[in-house]
Amino acid sequence: MAEKSSKPNTSKPNKVEVIKSSSDYLRGGIAEGLAKAAGGFDEQNVQLLKFHGVYQQENRDERQAARAAQAAATTNGAEDGVPAARAEKEHSFMLRTRLPGGHLTAAQYLVHDAIADRFANGTLRITTRQCFQFHGLLKGDLQTTLRELNETLITSLAACGDVVRNVICCPAPLHEPIRTQIEAVTRTISDHLLPQTRAYHELWLDGEKLYDGEKAAEDEPIYGKSYLPRKFKIAIAYPGDNCVDVYTQDIGLVAIADGSTLLGFNVLVGGGMGMNHTKADTFPRLGDPLGFITPDQVVAVVEQIVMIQRDYGNRTDRKQARMKYLIHNWGIERFRSELEARLGRPLQPFRAMLPLQNELHLGWQEQGDGRWFLGLSVENGRVADTDKRRLKSGLRAVVQVFQPGVRLTPNHDLLLTDILPEQRAAVEALLRSYGVHVAEPLSNIQLFSMACVALPTCGLAVAEAERALPQLVDELEQAAARLGLADERISVRMTGCPNGCARPYVADVAFVGRSADQYLLLVGGQSNGTRLNTAYKDLVHRHDLVAEVTALFDHFRQERRGAESFGDFCLRVGVDALRARADRYLAARSDDTSKQPTAKEQRYAGHSLPT
Ligand code: SF4
Repeated sequence: MAEKSSKPNTSKPNKVEVIKSSSDYLRGGIAEGLAKAAGGFDEQNVQLLKFHGVYQQENRDERQAARAAQAAATTNGAEDGVPAARAEKEHSFMLRTRLPGGHLTAAQYLVHDAIADRFANGTLRITTRQCFQFHGLLKGDLQTTLRELNETLITSLAACGDVVRNVICCPAPLHEPIRTQIEAVTRTISDHLLPQTRAYHELWLDGEKLYDGEKAAEDEPIYGKSYLPRKFKIAIAYPGDNCVDVYTQDIGLVAIADGSTLLGFNVLVGGGMGMNHTKADTFPRLGDPLGFITPDQVVAVVEQIVMIQRDYGNRTDRKQARMKYLIHNWGIERFRSELEARLGRPLQPFRAMLPLQNELHLGWQEQGDGRWFLGLSVENGRVADTDKRRLKSGLRAVVQVFQPGVRLTPNHDLLLTDILPEQRAAVEALLRSYGVHVAEPLSNIQLFSMACVALPTCGLAVAEAERALPQLVDELEQAAARLGLADERISVRMTGCPNGCARPYVADVAFVGRSADQYLLLVGGQSNGTRLNTAYKDLVHRHDLVAEVTALFDHFRQERRGAESFGDFCLRVGVDALRARADRYLAARSDDTSKQPTAKEQRYAGHSLPT
């Protein structure tokens, strides 16, 4: 057994660490900020709000428009000799709910649906962590929103912030003992690692101040008063199904079974997606195999891993604060030794696993209990009504009439569960009346594509993602079909900055925002999420992305070996050879600039989805 390792990090804490540790367990000045009718929260409380699931944002499209109007008014005022009034910054809020495993009852879904219309921008956004996000909330509506959610036992506590975020697991509602156990473990981990502070209740629900300021750290026995150095993500995968992208998590648990008996979990640690374009010491990373644990050991092992990160994670530089950097710096052997010292026993060796696939869980499937579930693909996770497809209204109608369970997937799709066989035709007909067609043929590129929210609401976005990807996917679908690649499983993911919210660095193809309209193009990942992709070309203009990928598709069509996947092909050939061949291909076609707008291009022309 290894000795407990060196002393925790005691170097000068960064600004956010100071805010957390002096916040009286996440209270700070949030109450005072809420009491002010006008204006947003100050920087200290903006940071603390995240732990409550709330992000202060602004609509950047509207800000630009306001600035233009202000500039015009200033000009006019100067001409008249009267200075124009300065436009107030318009704050709005994103609220994310915490839904372990992505599970909701019908009543919980309907309260989300109603809040989206009454207080937010009329849409719901499914996240890749199986949560719902509301966008465009106003400060004055936050307490009412959180109270209404709480009445259906939904919280937003720890959906964001430097804590263990929503714990995710495979959402397929199949009646198998292993799945039931995995779902129970997901719920147990989530409950166990939920912050203990009463601040959420005080601020949002009952208004009663329960904390006297004198209590010591027993208020947060796991986190302590400074919580974690950075966000922390946990996922649980079903044997052979990597729909949760288990290698990209701080802790990934892969269930190991013998027939219908759950033996335990292989543990992966140190995965994470974010990086910074200009800092070479930041990078995406896949989790390392740590060992095997039995179901009764899960809570203790996960808790101790979280506490190692609490004690040794970097609290000086937030860009180095994720646990992946601790493990990168220590090495997995030292990390394992530290964990074993804390547990007082060794871990069992990592076990052989079934090959992993990324199952989407779409279409009609029998659950195994006489009922059915229906998986619906949701483009970029946005539950909204558009002219042709009134998805939000259709889902509301089905949930009101049939009262199914609802599950959100890590691929930001949605499942309606527990539907009786005799209800299937009526569910389909009702959805169809809203323009939602269950049998709608979607290409693999469409099905496996994901984009983060990005502009106009994410304050970190430097480029478009959710609003740009539908058009790009449409064009890539056409290119793939022309080249006879329509049936290939090729995942395309797009983010508006390098933070990696849509997990782009394991996709076959990724577009990562670099600056306005320019992207880092990466290729060579695997759609089952077991390999990082590689930077292929930088600063590619949005309008050139499809041509660049089409050149690679053409190369793949001509020179793939057997049933080699697109990602495997890119890896085998290597980015230098790919680039040389693609540049010749593109040069030969540079005179062919005629391009007709696609159907989706026309659909989105001049139109932004409400965000
Ligand atoms: Fe925002 Fe970047 Fe995350 Fe996209 S990846 S939602 S732009 S932080």
